Parts: sequence; C-alpha cells; structure tokens
Amino acid sequence: MHIRDIFAQQSTTFSFEFFPPKTPEAAHALYENIRELEALRPSFVSVTYGAGGGTREVTNELVVRLKKETAMDPVPHLTCVCHSEAEINAILERYAAAGVSNILALGGDSPRSMPDHDRGKDAFRYGAQLVAHIKKFNERGLHPDPRGFGICVAGYPEGHPSTPNRVREMEHLKAKVDAGADWVCTQLFFDNRDFYDFRDRCTLSGISVPIVAGIMPVASVKGMMSMADMALGAHFPAPLLRSINRTGGVAESVRKVGVHWATEQCRDLLDNNVRGIHFYTLNKSSATREIYSTLGVQDTLSLLHARPMVAPTGQ
Ligand code: FAD
Repeated sequence: MHIRDIFAQQSTTFSFEFFPPKTPEAAHALYENIRELEALRPSFVSVTYGAGGGTREVTNELVVRLKKETAMDPVPHLTCVCHSEAEINAILERYAAAGVSNILALGGDSPRSMPDHDRGKDAFRYGAQLVAHIKKFNERGLHPDPRGFGICVAGYPEGHPSTPNRVREMEHLKAKVDAGADWVCTQLFFDNRDFYDFRDRCTLSGISVPIVAGIMPVASVKGMMSMADMALGAHFPAPLLRSINRTGGVAESVRKVGVHWATEQCRDLLDNNVRGIHFYTLNKSSATREIYSTLGVQDTLSLLHARPMVAPTGQ
C-alpha cells in the first residue's frame, strides 16, 4: 500500500527492519521469525541494502519474496553508492513490476572493502538526488500505482557525522523532503529527548511529513558496542548503562534490560503522539514481540480500533 494511504489509515504505524541473510541457515531462521512477526500485522517492513557486493541481490530477492508470499508490505532500502543511473532504473523497474509500493532512498556510504571508492563515479551522491530521481521515475508511469513509489528518507536525531553543522544538516533533510520524500525514518536512539528535539527542529525547518522513530533494543554488550559503531556515535544514556552494569554482563539479564528500556521508550513515544515506531529487529522476533505484549498491543491494526477503557485522570 502506498505510504500516504497507510498514514491516512493508521494514526501510529509500527514497522520492522530486516537485513539480507548471508547464509542459508540465516535465511531459514529469518523466514521463521518473519512468520512470527507477520502475526503482529506491521504497517510495513523494510529491508536494508548492502554497501556493495552479493547481499544487494539478496535484498532484491527478499523484498520480492516478502511481497509475493506474505501479507506484509516490503519497503526496500536503496543507496546511491556504487550505482550507475541505469542500474538504479533496473532496480526500480523490478520493484515496480513486483508491485512494491514504497522505497527508502539513501545516499549510502562507500563499502568498507573499498575505502578509496570515488563517489564522483556514482550517478548520485546524496539522498536528495535519489529522491528526485525516483520522482522522475514515478512520472514514467511504469508503476501500477499512478502515484508511483512512496518515498522515505533517513533522519538523524543525534546528527549525521558528515555534517557537524546541525543547522546545515536540517537544510539537507529539508532538501530531501522538498525533492519529494513522503516520510522520514530516524536512526536508532536511546534517549527520547533527542527524538523530541529533532522533531521540533523538523517543524522549525518547515518539515511536515510524518517522522517515524527508529528503536533498537540492546541485545548484548557486544551488540551494544557494534550498535555504537553502526549508528555512528549513538549515545547510551547513563541510566541505561547503569542498568547494564548491574547485570554483571549476564547475557539474559542484559537482554532483559535492553527490552525493558526499549519498551519504556516506546510507551513514552506513544504518549507523546509519535507518528510511527520502526523496530530494528536484527532479524529476530522475540524482543519485538515482548515489547508489543508489554505495551498491551495485540497487533498493529488493533490499535486502529482501540476504544478508551479508562479515561485519563483529571478529565
Ligand atoms: P544524505 O541525505 O545522503 O546525507 C549524507 C550526509 O551528507 C549528511 O551529513 C548530510 O547532511 C550531507 N549532505 C546532504 N546533502 C548535501 C549537500 N548537497 N552538500 C553537502 N552535504 C550534504 N546504509 C546502507 O548502506 N544501507 C541501508 O540499508 C541503510 N539504511 C538506513 C536506514 C536508516 C533509517 C538510516 C537512518 C540510515 C541507513 N543507512 C543505510 C545509513 C546511511 O546510508 C548513511 O548514514 C549515509 O551516510 C547517509 O545517507 P542518507 O541518505 O541518510 O544521507
């Protein structure tokens, strides 16, 4: 479903991110977890795109398979790096033919294996250029939906490392929205104050499209360290670190602390009218299912029909 229709129907979206599996065993485990997460009836699910190499094809295959074999709406990530315009068009044509409704458009980073890759050789460099290109593609009428693809872009509550000037950074985000983005999905964060401040700065910059919050529960101490690397400096608030320290590193306790923290983040976001929550699932289902269950959410669509059982105090 086109993202504008999803937002028109759902006051809060819940969505999940997967990454392309690298081995047949990982693929098997992912499909098992996908079946469990499908029962939660997410608004959409997204599939990441590698910086280069073989996993890119796996992304395409996983997206088309999700579209064909599940009731979930896949949103492929697509990056500009290491791509010609013809290659980008071929990918868009394939997704259009498969009836994929939405795309997350990204600039991307040079692959670690190619630190000297010349970005000047890529057809596009920044997310805004890819958004503009997808808009142009939409006008060619190759998509079954006359509006073409709905387009998502990335936002960074704690800032993106390439742009130390945070005012300038908001101008770049605004450029992506002006180029035609329908919604913003944020990088993961652990302190909701960063998200609320980002949301306010979006409003001040004239960005009025829905902003979906990216949430990833800490799953292990090792995972936390690689998250800090991956999310390019995500800050871990002291109360979260204190809770993790109290576990003494016992794996199951660390996992429980991570799920509890993420659940509290989600509860607070829902209380503060977040437009959507995007769970970085790491291809697992248990943490997301536990968060749904503790929040009292049966499945995403049940929220649409929720009736007030208890009036808020003071009303
Ligand atoms: P862009 O909008 O391209 O901006 C990148 C940097 O350049 C920013 O600092 C911006 O301020 C600056 N900038 C923008 N325009 C200009 C301009 N005209 N002049 C000068 N500077 C400019 N990476 C992957 O490889 N695969 C994925 O699947 C993936 N999924 C992601 C999903 C989400 C929700 C998020 C938040 C990130 C994801 N990333 C992914 C990481 C992302 O590709 C990198 O962070 C990349 O460095 C930025 O791409 P972008 O499209 O977010 O930023």
